[in-house]
Amino acid sequence: MAEPLRLVLIGPPGVGKGTQATMLEQNFGVRPISSGVIFRNEIEAETDLGRLAKRYIDHGELVPNGVTIEMMAKRLRSDDVRKSGFVLDGFPRTVRQAEALDELLDEMDEHLTKVVSIEVPEDVVVGRLAGRLGCTKCGEIYQAQTKPPKREGLCDKCNGPLIVRSDDTPETTKARLHIFNEKTRPVIDYYAEKGNLLRVDGSGDPMDVYKEIIAP
Ligand code: ADP
Ligand code: ZN
Repeated sequence: MAEPLRLVLIGPPGVGKGTQATMLEQNFGVRPISSGVIFRNEIEAETDLGRLAKRYIDHGELVPNGVTIEMMAKRLRSDDVRKSGFVLDGFPRTVRQAEALDELLDEMDEHLTKVVSIEVPEDVVVGRLAGRLGCTKCGEIYQAQTKPPKREGLCDKCNGPLIVRSDDTPETTKARLHIFNEKTRPVIDYYAEKGNLLRVDGSGDPMDVYKEIIAP
């Protein structure tokens, strides 16, 4: 049997990682694993991890490596993910996390198919994040300028109420971009050195980005 796809998507907030992860799931059956989504679920469920994570997330800071790595390792070790493959969105975000991922994959005798860096000019992501709205029920993402909902404040798919994420404020957005440049850019260099990095232009239409990602 062919090896399942094992992908990592890296890019600044608002670059469209979640959209690409969903398309990859639909077409290849890989499990999308978003560290941000898992943290937001933990916050919603008011778990200890959620309470801890919220203190960092609300300021646009990174959650500490230890708990983040442990949380992601648990998912990656699950039978379903091992069988179906995965697309990681939001992890690894630091070189320490990338090293931990390597160790974990080595231990399971698995390998990354490729690592994709989705790249867009910084002013474009700032504009996208400023108008971002998410559905509280199904998680669908809208954007005031480029993808407005048909009815103001309501999800096209499920009628759920749309909200601005608590960390999409202008100050937090600035902090997140700063941390991306400082902590996550070195992760891109880390994979570039290993030779399995693919850089794609994320400023176009999601379908164009997708085609670049899956090109052999
Ligand atoms: P975005 O890509 O829009 O910044 P995410 O949903 O990926 O948003 O992440 C939201 C927040 O969750 C981050 O700003 C950070 O506080 C926290 N977070 C997510 N993934 C990680 C990670 N791998 N390491 C540390 N913190 C993380
Ligand atoms: Zn919805």
